[in-house]
Amino acid sequence: MEKKNIDWSNLGFGYVQTDYRYVSNFTGGAWDEGVLTEDANIVLNECAGVLQYAQTVFEGLKAYTTEDGHIVTFRPDLNAERMMASAARLEMPVFPKERFIDAVTQVVAANEAYVPPYGSGATLYLRPYMFGMNSVIGVKPADDYQFRLFCTPVGPYFKGGAKPLTIRVSDFDRAAPNGTGDIKAGLNYAMSLHAIVTAHEEGYDENMYLDPKTRTKVEETGGANFLFVTRDNKVVTPKSGSILPSITRRSLVHVAQEYLGLEVEEREVLFEEVKDFAECGLCGTAAVISPVGKIVDHGKEICLPSGMTEMGPVTRKLYETLTGIQMGRIPAPEGWIHVIK
Ligand SMILES: *Cc1c(COP(=O)(O)O)cnc(C)c1O
Repeated sequence: MEKKNIDWSNLGFGYVQTDYRYVSNFTGGAWDEGVLTEDANIVLNECAGVLQYAQTVFEGLKAYTTEDGHIVTFRPDLNAERMMASAARLEMPVFPKERFIDAVTQVVAANEAYVPPYGSGATLYLRPYMFGMNSVIGVKPADDYQFRLFCTPVGPYFKGGAKPLTIRVSDFDRAAPNGTGDIKAGLNYAMSLHAIVTAHEEGYDENMYLDPKTRTKVEETGGANFLFVTRDNKVVTPKSGSILPSITRRSLVHVAQEYLGLEVEEREVLFEEVKDFAECGLCGTAAVISPVGKIVDHGKEICLPSGMTEMGPVTRKLYETLTGIQMGRIPAPEGWIHVIK
């Protein structure tokens, strides 16, 4: 398979249109069989449910070329399950897990020419999503839905090494207790845009959100979960019903325990404790782990001992082990790697 003429290592994180995407429609109470299409555009009625009341959920995962030349995805079953949970919470029909994995397989195989080569640092990002399609003017769930999955090649997240981030404690809240913080829905991102735009204007890379009820506990950022490392090398990650259950974070917890022999605590994390941690990282599919060097709370700076030039040692081990598993350099736990070809 001849690859597209793309400068893989200089790609950013942006949309590059590829040749094929997968579409399945839910009408009359059932999903149709689904097809690959070359048509990248969607035509919708002006009153479509998604446009009026934001009835839409999404996922994000990647396909990689491994060291031995296979094309694989990482734990797509967990993306399928999470999308089912997200859909159920927004009164949407669930797209079955086997069909989700089949759609991933078909789209990656059909766009093989866009799967970046091993060693380029680039990956093929997959975006499954679903939305209410028919006209809805009174507030209620749509009747008809579309599931769609497209892919786009994305560049290495850290060009020239991972530089630690500076984040701020946000005055905005991300997710209410008993709200929608634990599902992957566009609505959680729409309301985070003002907070992230103003954070960037003020020189911060990301927002740290606290629990809205007491504003004493760490939740997550706009799109990544926290992992902390204590001074005696324990991994600590916040537990809360309004955090999005990151697949990367859950995988890193397993890697910490089973590959690195580290103790892991999943528990409420008080903001008060953060000043005592040795390392801090943000985890998600896009970067795996982004190290945090500084956390600013209304002018008060917490400087992590790992500093502003490189990842802390435990964060680095976690990063290298998980990316090693994804790229096929380190044996994976049973079921983690879905081989496409
Ligand atoms: C997608 C997402 C994450 C990261 O989840 P992964 O499954 O690791 O990619 C974390 N937080 C939020 C709010 C997210 O939407």
